[in-house]
Amino acid sequence: MPRRRQASSPHSEIDISCGLPCLPGGPAEANDDMLIIEDLTQIYPNGTQALNGVRLTVPNGLFSLLGPNGAGKSTLMRTIATLQKPTSGSIRFGDIDVLATPQLLRHTLGYLPQDFGVYPRVSVYDLLEHMAVLKGVASIGERKDTVESLLRQVNLWEVRHKAVAGFSGGMRQRFGIAQALIGNPRLIIVDEPTAGLDPEERNRFLNLLAEIGEQVVVILSTHIVEDVAELCPRMAVLARGRVLLEGEPLALIRRLQGAVWGKTVHKVELPAYVSGHEVISTRLVGGRPLLHVLADSRPGPGFEQLEPTLEDVYFATLRSAQRAVA
Ligand code: ADP
Repeated sequence: MPRRRQASSPHSEIDISCGLPCLPGGPAEANDDMLIIEDLTQIYPNGTQALNGVRLTVPNGLFSLLGPNGAGKSTLMRTIATLQKPTSGSIRFGDIDVLATPQLLRHTLGYLPQDFGVYPRVSVYDLLEHMAVLKGVASIGERKDTVESLLRQVNLWEVRHKAVAGFSGGMRQRFGIAQALIGNPRLIIVDEPTAGLDPEERNRFLNLLAEIGEQVVVILSTHIVEDVAELCPRMAVLARGRVLLEGEPLALIRRLQGAVWGKTVHKVELPAYVSGHEVISTRLVGGRPLLHVLADSRPGPGFEQLEPTLEDVYFATLRSAQRAVA
């Protein structure tokens, strides 16, 4: 995907490789377009298999792609965003064949990459306006309306005359979403957007995404389980390039009901517990390891039954995949 720069622009140093073109349009309308990914495989030239037969169906709403570092999340995001071609497989969005006609998808795509690039010392208003020009919003009046309503939507109106370079992480990400929303995209991809945000900024940002997700398909990749727990109606777990689990977070949590047990142990006892039980996680609480163990009945004295959480679902899924490989 070539970088789009505008030589005549006063801000032509801006790297907007992240800002894919979108068509200008009227107010966002709810749509029923689904993203359907089938048998997607990516083998990089050095032999790394980053995606291995990925199949996903993503409806309207906020969809989380959860997975550890190296799982293949960014590869999948970049492939859907048409920034790279897969080795094989197919991707459809509504009636668009994404791999055959990437330009059609780009017209309706908003993308916030993991690494947004450098910010010039221009005001957030001017920068957004400039990006709207690059994204094809030609009329001055329409551009003004677009920029002003986006700044209000992402809550940056009060700081519209300040330079993005001086923004906090959360403000930058909200700016990133504003630029991704230019042109009313029907598919929005955000790659690891909450890394480095403090809890308040993270909440605010995720709420914004959930709000946007009421109208369109929003895919959020993350390695942070709490990002997914409350806001996403649907999620998938990706590890080693494979989709291990897909569904509604609450339904997935319910499946573990009665099967998660907890016990605080001494550090020296830890290896014996790990080898004798199906330990899904250990976390230090007050300096001592708290084990979460998966078992159909009480696995031993001192264990208490716990309400399962999405973290339990996630770690249990990763663990069973590791066992399958071992
Ligand atoms: P995630 O976003 O989940 O951390 P990535 O998609 O970045 O995962 O990476 C998946 C795997 O592919 C990793 O092993 C990574 O090192 C490898 N990888 C990513 N990009 C490239 C590339 N351009 N060339 C070779 N290997 C790559």
